[in-house]
Amino acid sequence: MSKMRCSCGHAISDSNCPCPTEASVIDDVAYDMFDDLFTKRVDLFLDAVREGRRRQWIDAELTSQYPDQCTDGDVISTLLSSCLMDHCLSLAECPQCGRLWIQRGIGVNKYRAFSPVEPGFEGHLAAEPTNVSQDDG
Ligand SMILES: [Zn+2]
Repeated sequence: MSKMRCSCGHAISDSNCPCPTEASVIDDVAYDMFDDLFTKRVDLFLDAVREGRRRQWIDAELTSQYPDQCTDGDVISTLLSSCLMDHCLSLAECPQCGRLWIQRGIGVNKYRAFSPVEPGFEGHLAAEPTNVSQDDG
């Protein structure tokens, strides 16, 4: 998306990362497909690590530009992001009117708006997670 004009006139931008007004949406069917694909890719990566083929696997499945010093967790995080992008729709919340803009299809740069019944912007997408580990950081 990068930038689009909301019906209220506000310019919505997702250029900040992480962006508090951006989210990803995944339905149950797509989630099952994502989960199967992600699990298979992680299993194949861990097989390669155990068998001493880590670099060859990264070159073939990610990119030869992938840094050697990255941890296995970094690689799995990359796989997670990649698999999610292939199964999620993008969602943007207008910070001025609260309208939600949902991507019309994966890989499609068109959005459909849903306007809140109640007036006002409440920043629903910027809500804090409720179960964050204290060990993070
Ligand atoms: Zn708006």
